[in-house]
Amino acid sequence: MSISLLPAVQAFLQRDHGQFIDGQARVAGSGRHLDVIDPASGEVISRVGEASQADIDAAVASSRQGFAQWSKAAPAVRGGVLLKLADLLERNREELAQIETLQSGKLIQIARNFEVDQAAHFLRYYAGWATKIGGETITPSLPSFNGEKYTAFTLREPIGVVVGIVPWNFSTMIAIWKLASALVTGCSVIIKPSEFTPLTILRIAELAVEAGLPAGALNVVTGAGGVGKALIEHPHTDKVSFTGSVPTGLAVGQTAMAANLTRATLELGGKNAAGFLPDVDVDKAVAGIIEAGFLHSGQICAAAERFYVHRSQIEAITQRLCERLAQLKIGSPLDESAEFGPVTNKQHQAKLGQLFAKARAENCTILHGGQLIDGPGCYVEPTVILANSAKDSLMTEETFGPVATFLPYDTEEELVELMNDSPYGLSASLWTNDLGKAMRLIPQIQAGTLWVNMHTLLDPAVPFGGIKASGVGREFGGAFIEDYTELKSVMIRY
Ligand code: NAD
Repeated sequence: MSISLLPAVQAFLQRDHGQFIDGQARVAGSGRHLDVIDPASGEVISRVGEASQADIDAAVASSRQGFAQWSKAAPAVRGGVLLKLADLLERNREELAQIETLQSGKLIQIARNFEVDQAAHFLRYYAGWATKIGGETITPSLPSFNGEKYTAFTLREPIGVVVGIVPWNFSTMIAIWKLASALVTGCSVIIKPSEFTPLTILRIAELAVEAGLPAGALNVVTGAGGVGKALIEHPHTDKVSFTGSVPTGLAVGQTAMAANLTRATLELGGKNAAGFLPDVDVDKAVAGIIEAGFLHSGQICAAAERFYVHRSQIEAITQRLCERLAQLKIGSPLDESAEFGPVTNKQHQAKLGQLFAKARAENCTILHGGQLIDGPGCYVEPTVILANSAKDSLMTEETFGPVATFLPYDTEEELVELMNDSPYGLSASLWTNDLGKAMRLIPQIQAGTLWVNMHTLLDPAVPFGGIKASGVGREFGGAFIEDYTELKSVMIRY
């Protein structure tokens, strides 16, 4: 049974949404709007005005002023505001989670536990960095000519106005990663949410004001890709931090370079691999595959999509997996007992339908699922496919959906070769009871993040980002600081 919506959520959906600029909600000047559709029902639940060029200019101007003020705030003040925002996320947990579930179709438990609770943890982690960012002192290396002395040091200075472009899969958490990285380093930030999921960040921007963030430090500009492009091209934008698909990431990188060598970090997709060594226990492997491939219907950038299992075990593992998937309760994401919900939009559902057709055309074996589910919502069956070769479409193209494609292997060398046989390298996982073997394989696997006996768990203390075509730059840990600051070297003669 579905939970009841909070009156605050019903009231929020009814509001005339647009942009959030200079500390205030504003109705868009363009006259165009985005329909926000509940993917569980296919119904329009809210409308958000799309930004005009004047709105974009106003947001960037506000961010420049916001930067002038915020970059001068004491580090402890910056950290304090993020800590207060984390408290406010928790205080408004159910409201934010319900809005997130309605706009994205993610299960309410995932919205509560990941989108809101994890976002608060990330905010607190980032807040701690505010008081720990600094340069270094350096002893210059060359001998002096006349006995003069030199000393040198570096400063880490905030880069300026950051545009954070966010995808639809984790629209709350990824927006928080971007705004926290920017604000803690002293930058101001404009968040451009996905056109499919613009609502939660508009509410979070209000909470940020309540937390004490000065006007202009955080602005929100809504719209589709054209609005994102115009923000990057704006002459007063200093950096773009983009999370999304590989083709859009390439376009964003090119736009940023052409704009003014605008700095760009790109967190993109991939075709992540999971390799199971022959010693794995079948039940543990199946639980791992469900974690790696089916959480949030596979709509996680780090999710595994290529599964390599030793030939001796592939039948047992895929058979048990299909049995488990057949038992999943597919239902409304607002039903707390549902285990599997819709994908986030009709376009994505249609793309998955095309991939299923390709798998059939290439004579792959569909072991489970492989159909869209009829009805007004965007439901897709959890799917297990046995590929014929590493070149099959389902082994090479990102599905970003609840689809696990399997291929058997015979030797460890072949496993490494197959796992690395991709232009992408966001994440990967190895599954084995033999830690020594895992340690020997770790350096051979090409991925920005490699998990052993786990997959998908992101921790704010552990840097995250892609190699090869999966991206440029890193989030989390201390690694993000380099991407949000410029390094200034100072030399002094005395
Ligand atoms: P997308 O690339 O279609 O869109 C992402 C964002 O870019 C949206 O806000 C969109 O409006 C905007 N955009 C589109 N065209 C643009 C342009 N020319 N200039 C500027 N902005 C533009 O991605 P999506 O479908 O929303 O998200 C799914 C993709 O995101 C998947 O490929 C997934 O792997 C990837 N992803 C990566 C990570 C990561 O951290 N590496 C995390 C989540 C999702």
